[in-house]
Amino acid sequence: MIPFIDLQAQRLRLGQPLEDAILKVVRSGAYIMGPEIAEFERQLSAFGQAPFALSCGSGTEALVLPLMAWGIGPGDAVFCPSFTFAATAEAMPLVGASPVFVDIDPETYNLDPQSLQAAIEAVKREGKLNPRAVIAVDLFGGPADYPAIARVCAEHGLKLISDSAQGFGCTLHGKHPIHWADVATTSFFPAKPLGCYGDGGAVLSKDAGFHDLLVSLRVHGQAVKSDTEGKTFEHDPKYLNVRVGMNSRMDTIQAAVLLEKLKIFEDEIAARNRVADRYAQGLGDLVKTPTVLDGGVSVWAQYTIELPGRDDLAPVLREQGIPTAVYYPIPIHKQNVYSVYPTAPGGLPVTEAKAGQVISLPMHPYLSEEDQDTVVTAIRAFVKRNR
Ligand SMILES: *Cc1c(COP(=O)(O)O)cnc(C)c1O
Repeated sequence: MIPFIDLQAQRLRLGQPLEDAILKVVRSGAYIMGPEIAEFERQLSAFGQAPFALSCGSGTEALVLPLMAWGIGPGDAVFCPSFTFAATAEAMPLVGASPVFVDIDPETYNLDPQSLQAAIEAVKREGKLNPRAVIAVDLFGGPADYPAIARVCAEHGLKLISDSAQGFGCTLHGKHPIHWADVATTSFFPAKPLGCYGDGGAVLSKDAGFHDLLVSLRVHGQAVKSDTEGKTFEHDPKYLNVRVGMNSRMDTIQAAVLLEKLKIFEDEIAARNRVADRYAQGLGDLVKTPTVLDGGVSVWAQYTIELPGRDDLAPVLREQGIPTAVYYPIPIHKQNVYSVYPTAPGGLPVTEAKAGQVISLPMHPYLSEEDQDTVVTAIRAFVKRNR
């Protein structure tokens, strides 16, 4: 079977230094908030062009933390796509707020600024929920239309989060999503473009006071410098908890892994783009291949094509040792627990159509041209047979 994502090839490339880095943490005993955490946060903020980066427990908690920091909760609306991983929408009910589902652009699968505008106006007209923020997703690794989305957010006074769990490292005109967003979040789940060896996530932000608040929320609302300045305490302020937070620390071992992976990340993004270009050349005349915004660079978390008869293609490829996956067969607003939340006026026709047509192919930086040719040949034969 051709690997869908080949983490072992990456591990072999990273070799002994990776294993040494892990063992160093094991031997140091600094399992929680060891020095690798601060060093990784420093390097991550530099890579992501953000003044501040906070590591945390997962990509899901990376979305919850800024919502908590802004005090978003019951009665508040946060707009997001429905064609995404459940975690994007889950963050809102976790803080008591309501997601409002917005349709996507048919070419990029990312938030449609016009549907967003219409959804915000509808929520305002109805007057039941208070619009607070927008979460744009860089689905499959490609940047959302940040200039247009940020314009809509500014017009309505809404915060903008970039959920870049699949797209961390993507750019638009050379700039990372944080250029337009208030906050960019990512996940280090192993299969993401920048993944660790367990769970982890990060929140990138621009404002020192806001970052400080996230630092506090990450560790049970413990007092940070701004909370204790000019005050004296009988006890260690470490045990002064000034707000309700949570435990969302990332393990030191994961920071050590990520420091090694960051060294080759730029090179891997280039390799992913070479693989994507070859797929487009090999398949573009027969099936719908992905579109990246003009001036955009995707990190290709997935390579997703569209074709009628998708459900018949998967077993045919599987027989030839080619794995595929469908992201996502059921849009979030169609899932039982999320069907109670509002959608943009007119519903989400593009989202619902795409869910029935997309299929993702093996994609990783170490996919050989030979294996890729096997995939391309098998799909071409399938499409021609079924025409
Ligand atoms: C993976 C993912 C998340 C959640 O990340 P976890 O680290 O698994 O919690 C959030 N949003 C999107 C778009 C994702 O793909």
